[in-house]
Amino acid sequence: MTDKTLVRGVEWPESPSTPLATPLQMSTAYVSVSPDALDAQYDSGEGFTYAREGHPNATVLAQKIDMLEGISGGIITSSGMSAASAMFLGLLKSGDHIVGGDQLYGRTMRLMTQELPRFGITATLADPTDAVKIEAAIQPNTKLIVLEVLSNPTLRMADFHAIVALAKRRNILLAIDNTFTTPRAFRPFDHGADIVFHSVTKLLAGHSDATLGYVVARDPALQRAIYEANVTWGLTPSPFDCWLAERGLHSFELRFDKAQSNAAILADTLAELPNVARVIYPGRADFEGYISLFNGRFGNMVSFELAGGREAANAFTKAAAKIAFAPTLGDISTTLSHPASSSHRALTPDARAKLGMSEGFFRVSVGIEDPEFLVQQFGDALRSI
Ligand SMILES: *Cc1c(COP(=O)(O)O)cnc(C)c1O
Repeated sequence: MTDKTLVRGVEWPESPSTPLATPLQMSTAYVSVSPDALDAQYDSGEGFTYAREGHPNATVLAQKIDMLEGISGGIITSSGMSAASAMFLGLLKSGDHIVGGDQLYGRTMRLMTQELPRFGITATLADPTDAVKIEAAIQPNTKLIVLEVLSNPTLRMADFHAIVALAKRRNILLAIDNTFTTPRAFRPFDHGADIVFHSVTKLLAGHSDATLGYVVARDPALQRAIYEANVTWGLTPSPFDCWLAERGLHSFELRFDKAQSNAAILADTLAELPNVARVIYPGRADFEGYISLFNGRFGNMVSFELAGGREAANAFTKAAAKIAFAPTLGDISTTLSHPASSSHRALTPDARAKLGMSEGFFRVSVGIEDPEFLVQQFGDALRSI
């Protein structure tokens, strides 16, 4: 017999020094010294036992996003949608009702209006730019209001302060999807929100190579319920994605500021170009809404409308070949999305028109390129169509 084996057995080398970069910890299970030690660990809730319940790469990433949001105790989930799912599954039960903004992310609206009703949870969608309309949608069993402060893709501002006051008065929780605005521009807890969730996939991770979410409730008891739902329904993230996202997050503030300054330049450039019927950017003088909420940080999202409908839209994406036409946002590079053929294709043209989205409507997620490159690409393309 020998005490040597290739199967496990060799310990990770000890070192008096520690790695500068966060190590990637892929292990799905953790070794304990004895049943007593394991018992003590489960009792205290400290450390790691099994990766679905928690792992170091998720913890490191969650603590960084906590720092940005000015909170503690947030968790990472496998996608932005699973962050929303963990919140709904942890906080609601059959018979409860949700009021949601009518321009939330498409899948969030679908989750609330098509999936949750199968579990006895119903939702009403209402216009968040008017607190009176949100109040009219409230029922005696309403437990949660879900909003994005700046809607996608038409960049409409929610009637935020009035809705916060309404939620407090009616004793309803207020959850904010802060993906679009990010805590660099807007910190919902500073303004009275109860819950914040994110698609970390977008600006926070920033490199279009990790799909992740984040969710946190201000009340620790609610956060515990969200955590339990997350690990029980199995919405846990991969350590590798967390590791990539943390790497992306190191430069989040630099990327945000650069993309925002590019967005301001691009918005003003677009407004002067031929074939552009209108430009929407929160930093422009003609923007409608409580932009004071944003503390002067107007973000990287610019929307605009081409005159000439679908034909002009096709000609434009072909002419602007160096600007990726891709259904995402928050990448380091500038990407273009066309709601009528992607995120909002399920709506009738009439319903889209009501939301302010014609066939010529584009949303630009501005990246960190040299602004001259962007001005040239958009300028050449728009002058050529
Ligand atoms: C992308 C997105 C989501 C969903 O996130 P995934 O990571 O794709 O699951 C939710 N809300 C907003 C505003 C988004 O942009």
